[in-house]
Amino acid sequence: MQCNKCRRDAVLFQKYSGQHLCEHHVEAYVEAKAKHEIRRNRWILPGDHIAVVLTGNPGSAALLYFLKKLTSLRRDIKISAIALDEGITGYHDTGTASWIAESLETECFTGSFLETFGVTLDEIAHRKGAGSSCMYCRVFRNFLLNRIAKDQGVTKLASAETLDDDAVYVLKHILGGTPEILIHTERNFSIVPIIRPFITLPLNEVELYTGLHNLKYEHSTCPYMNNAIENDVRTLLNDFTLRHPATKYALHNLGIHINEECATMANTVSAYEQCGEPADGICQSCRILSEETVHGA
Ligand SMILES: [Zn+2]
Repeated sequence: MQCNKCRRDAVLFQKYSGQHLCEHHVEAYVEAKAKHEIRRNRWILPGDHIAVVLTGNPGSAALLYFLKKLTSLRRDIKISAIALDEGITGYHDTGTASWIAESLETECFTGSFLETFGVTLDEIAHRKGAGSSCMYCRVFRNFLLNRIAKDQGVTKLASAETLDDDAVYVLKHILGGTPEILIHTERNFSIVPIIRPFITLPLNEVELYTGLHNLKYEHSTCPYMNNAIENDVRTLLNDFTLRHPATKYALHNLGIHINEECATMANTVSAYEQCGEPADGICQSCRILSEETVHGA
């Protein structure tokens, strides 16, 4: 099959748009979509120091490559990376992340759960049950990413979340009866903002972009992933999208719509005094962190 934009062989069929694209036009498409989101949200400003959250997965490698390329002529923008060791046996070896950063000539800051919290995620899963390990992991990751970012003068964290991740996030909270989570309230200014340039790109297109540039990445998946509700929602959504190809975009747009419609309501939600995050009583992240006695550690 030929590319719809030129005569080269197509490597991608976009079911949701009906287009066939060659390697050259996949690259152009991915970069144009990511640039559009950056411009629309004013995500890159003069003087920014942007750190890519480098998990070692294909998306994070692609995001670092893309941001380096995008800012290669910008002397006023610094791009670095942050890699975390959660302490999960056989997963997320920071060696892969460091290797990616080195191959793209990027400074990489590292941190580990064991060094910061005195506990690995394997131990948390053993102690609290594998079912709650994802929640602990998310809270610990956010805390540590923010601490490293602030220590290193990072002005924005760049996350490689894709359209798939966003659609799963929206659907998970609708199915779980917690749509209020989708409302982004006024953020605590002590938290480093997160940018998501790939948020309107399907995962398979980001992975294709990674492949086109022969970027090294990690193939393993988290051993605790099967316990997460996200996994069930992802399976359900992928199956549904086979017959209804625009569903992930519809969910992404629904998330934006809910946020815009409810923005004024969100400002009436009270903030937890310790972290400034919206919460009824103590915020869940603060509860977990205080349990592990890391505040001020
Ligand atoms: Zn083409």
